Amino acid sequence: MANGAWPRGVTEDGSRDPRPDADLQPAWLYTADGRRFLDFGAGIATSSLGHGHPHLVKTIAEQAARVMHVSNLYRVPQAEELAARHVAASFAESVFFCNSGAEANEGMVKAVRKYHAETGHPERFHMICFEGAFHGRTLAMLSATGNEKYLAGFGPPVQGFDHVPFGNMNAVRDAIGPHTAGIMIEPVQGEGGVRPADLRFLKELRAVCDEFGLLLALDEVQTGMGRSGKLWAHQWAGIEPDVMSSAKGIGGGFPLGAILAKEKVAKYLKPGTHGTTYGGGPLACAAGNAVLDVMLAPGFLDQVDAVARLLWKGLLDLAQRHPKVIEGVQGAGLLLGMKLRPEILNGEMQAAAVAEGLLTVAAGMNVLRLAPPLIITEAEVTEALRLLDRTCLRMTPSAAQVAAK
Ligand SMILES: *Cc1c(COP(=O)(O)O)cnc(C)c1O
Repeated sequence: MANGAWPRGVTEDGSRDPRPDADLQPAWLYTADGRRFLDFGAGIATSSLGHGHPHLVKTIAEQAARVMHVSNLYRVPQAEELAARHVAASFAESVFFCNSGAEANEGMVKAVRKYHAETGHPERFHMICFEGAFHGRTLAMLSATGNEKYLAGFGPPVQGFDHVPFGNMNAVRDAIGPHTAGIMIEPVQGEGGVRPADLRFLKELRAVCDEFGLLLALDEVQTGMGRSGKLWAHQWAGIEPDVMSSAKGIGGGFPLGAILAKEKVAKYLKPGTHGTTYGGGPLACAAGNAVLDVMLAPGFLDQVDAVARLLWKGLLDLAQRHPKVIEGVQGAGLLLGMKLRPEILNGEMQAAAVAEGLLTVAAGMNVLRLAPPLIITEAEVTEALRLLDRTCLRMTPSAAQVAAK
């Protein structure tokens, strides 16, 4: 074992050590051979409470022992409670639970289309989406994403998704026509390169939706559930969407997605119009409640905001010290990206970080994404910055390499 010490919290086969004294550290992952990694990827911004968080583990275990699945033929108190809490904590008046981000987005687009169909405008079924977006991998969400690489080989794209440059208000206005139903946007493009929308741009989108009777549909699958330092990223812009999707962090690693909506939209998505077998099940919703217990506790989001600012400052400092590696720092809250120099490939940098003991996630536009569990401590941020510093040294092209290029 490394340093002769038993890796805390795991057994030899890599599973969690059930000993009550096992000192679990939720931001760390351990391999079967005893190496440990500081997890600044969180399973792609999903394990929001880290790994083995005692409250989440206990809640899931207890719920699993009682009842896991009954279908929504019956009332599910865990789902009712979770929906009520999400309504109380957000703009939403109604919540629909599903199982993933793509599924939540599908339901969100269905809700937008249905709203217009039911209010006398069935011709309005187009969503304005943005270049660089990522909305998931189902057939319709591939079209919403619009990335040629992802669409290739899957037949004709689903109709009704018009793409404009991210952040360009003139292009948005030009794209609005009699068929436009709504605008769909990630407040921070995650997969696309951790690109934050300007807060003023989000405000302008709200205004243009009001002006033309469009619905503002936010994809907060990655940016939501505390990742930005507020429960929902759009709160930084002081706006409210009409409908919003959530997944990733909402279950803390347990599969759970949700559509949150204003009643004027939700009322048309009634039983028989949209449905699910697994969605809103007792186990997933118990997990969702446990996550909210932690995130809504007084001071939790303030702490996320505080460590996020520490990380941001540290990354700016890192970029200054390693200009041959890092071109810039971008993102919001604990969804941050290091834009790398063109000659430094993010996949290679990610591998170099692993070699230093730090897990990160590559994103589009040659960005290395940092999305740690929201429970990370200041000390862990400091440690991550130290490991990134070493990673940058590994990646710094030598004078000879630069001359050869
Ligand atoms: C991950 C992601 C999705 C897709 O979520 P899945 O659970 O993988 O289907 C959709 N939108 C955004 C913004 C995401 O980050």
